[in-house]
Amino acid sequence: MSEYHELYQQVIVDHGRRPRNFCVCEGANRHQRGVNPMCGDQLTVHVREAEGIIEAASFQGEGCAISMASASLMTEAVSGMHIDKAQALSNQVKTLVKGEPQTGLGKLAALAGVCEYPSRVKCATLAWHALEAALANHDGAVSTEGEQHA
Ligand code: ZN
Repeated sequence: MSEYHELYQQVIVDHGRRPRNFCVCEGANRHQRGVNPMCGDQLTVHVREAEGIIEAASFQGEGCAISMASASLMTEAVSGMHIDKAQALSNQVKTLVKGEPQTGLGKLAALAGVCEYPSRVKCATLAWHALEAALANHDGAVSTEGEQHA
């Protein structure tokens, strides 16, 4: 457990302070906003998808360190992934943060530490729920920003 704890601290603090892919990725064609009213986290996930592959993923938003870190880790993890695989990964992460260990998650394993703080589980899963919704939306983007890229 202490090993997890250390990893949790390092990765969450690092990504929470300096989120990766904090932008609208070029050519993004799927957008999904997600909110976690319990904590005040809100973010929008941007994905550039082509032929079932997530070519790029990014996010923007604001919230607690856990929500930002999880979103940052998510964008790194799913870039280049097939949609089906990303959805399976999302399921794994959601299981992980409920306290069931998962294998093959790499840096995402750090999110296991969240299970010690049940009230933060929704912070950790917010970006993943948004990603899933973005990927399920085949009929064009849902943009909350009021502008569509042609
Ligand atoms: Zn939060």
